[in-house]
Amino acid sequence: MRCWLAIVLLAWPLLAQEAVRYEIRFPNAAHHEAEIRATFAGVRQPVLEVLMSRSSPGRYALHEFAKNVSSFRASDPQGHALDVSRPSPYQWNVSGHKGAVVVEYTLFGDRADGTYAAIDSTHAHLNPPATFVWAHGFEGSPVALTVAVPQGSGWTVATQLTPRGDGAWTAPNMDRLMDAPLEIGRHTEISWKVGEASFRLVLHHRGTDEEAAALVRACEAITAEEEGVFGAFPNYDDGLYTFLVDYLPYVSGDGMEHRDSTSITGARDLRTSASDAAGAAAHEFFHSWNVKRIRPRSLEPFDYERANMSGELWFAEGFTNYYGTLALKRAGLEPLDSFTRSMAGAVSEVLTAPGRLAANAIDMSRQAPFVDAAVSLDPVNTVNNFISYYTCGQALALGIDLAIRARFPGRSLDDWMRQMWREHPDIDKPYTLDDLERSLATATGSREFAAEIFRRHIYGKEPMDYEALLAHAGLLLQKGGGRNRAWLGAQWAGFSNRGMTLNAPTLRGSPLYDAGLDRGDRIVAWDGHPAKTQAKLDAILARHRLGDKIRLRVETRAGEKEVDLILAAPPGLRVVTYESAGRPLTPGMAAFREAWLSSKAIHPLPKLSRW
Ligand SMILES: [Zn+2]
Repeated sequence: MRCWLAIVLLAWPLLAQEAVRYEIRFPNAAHHEAEIRATFAGVRQPVLEVLMSRSSPGRYALHEFAKNVSSFRASDPQGHALDVSRPSPYQWNVSGHKGAVVVEYTLFGDRADGTYAAIDSTHAHLNPPATFVWAHGFEGSPVALTVAVPQGSGWTVATQLTPRGDGAWTAPNMDRLMDAPLEIGRHTEISWKVGEASFRLVLHHRGTDEEAAALVRACEAITAEEEGVFGAFPNYDDGLYTFLVDYLPYVSGDGMEHRDSTSITGARDLRTSASDAAGAAAHEFFHSWNVKRIRPRSLEPFDYERANMSGELWFAEGFTNYYGTLALKRAGLEPLDSFTRSMAGAVSEVLTAPGRLAANAIDMSRQAPFVDAAVSLDPVNTVNNFISYYTCGQALALGIDLAIRARFPGRSLDDWMRQMWREHPDIDKPYTLDDLERSLATATGSREFAAEIFRRHIYGKEPMDYEALLAHAGLLLQKGGGRNRAWLGAQWAGFSNRGMTLNAPTLRGSPLYDAGLDRGDRIVAWDGHPAKTQAKLDAILARHRLGDKIRLRVETRAGEKEVDLILAAPPGLRVVTYESAGRPLTPGMAAFREAWLSSKAIHPLPKLSRW
């Protein structure tokens, strides 16, 4: 009796607080396996539908995480087996229970990035949708998680989940669990404050403490600089935002935003790739406002059972791309020429890439389930019918920022971002395309301006006038962004003893495309000369001028034939300063550029002398 009472007293508070409990351990980490137990208490439905997610917030393709679940079994809390059926590849139905169901399974995972799960002898890097099953009817229930690290491993848990005194981690509901990646291993952890807000970098790498400290200074500058755009930080749970960073040769390069943390992975080391890590941090941290709180209605509530489609990713991702790069420049982490190179890349794409004619920014956004970490067995024609919403959105942000600054002195895109955050402070007030247009009108004080921007450049496919807009800041848009030699339009080609084989669709409007050549065709001679290596082809092209006609002998699906190819210049554009182009920079242009690109930090930036 006493014994029973003790059990009840110990167990009851846990059950009373969290209807869903997870336990994870790693007895076979060397072979990339974790053992997971999930307990669902207070089950009212006769059949408990247990699922593995098919999609993950922030990564828009379907991933079928159930493929890495094995040895699935269900029991009651006393250990009596329960009946399990499998109505779909990602669902298990558990019946015969008396109100509590314990589910156990083995999870395999060997890809550390923002989407999947990785378990090995050095760490467990877990994206919850790829890791934890969940059950219909329990989406709103509080969750507790305990982690049993391998004995003697020295591993600790880093996550945005709330720690509870007894070693468990908690989330108020399933969405918040799914949004909280876990890095479990041996880390370097460094904290800092900007005003009242607390931040920490949790770093798993093989580099030096100096490299870690340098990345912390960069992140400190980024957090302070991006606060300046919005005027304040969001209210992070427990007052803390965490950068989870893995720079290891066996992880996959990625960055993924979360509400109060980000997962950043890179396969190189910080000695050579610190600026990549800072770039990822600048992008992902901006998401703690834009997309994790300023949230499109199309992504709420997030559906873990299907692909989620959003026509607003040009704003959610593209504007974040723009501000990530801008924050690096404003904070002094990147020089002007690397900022202009990034902007030139986006502008070049929207002015010259064939995909620009296929759809507007909204429909490009809606393609995300097919392009964001999507895998397809059949060939796709993305190069000719798509421009990334990251790219077209970045170009739009640049153009709209310059247009606001030129037309409404003293105002900027920052005012639109702040207005959006005022009107849509968190996910319970998500926005639509109409809301975006309305808030742009409010931020600029001009409904006509907002209407024209949306009609021509967002609902329409018309590019903005980048040449005129960049000129306000004394920046020149020039031809010649690509390599200074004849351009063929091959996306991917391979050389062998038999010639050059086209391995991907050719670019619409390019010399190869206009010559009728496409994927699978092999060019065996150029004006009678074979080119079995890239160097040989370069030598042949070097003897020609742009506009020259070359006779090609080609093996095609329809047999061998001869076609004419007319050499063209690469379509890319670049952005240079008026000074470097020998044009006069007026005081007005210099002041415009300074107002645009100088620091907006409210709190002082750290000294970056060693960056
Ligand atoms: Zn992003």
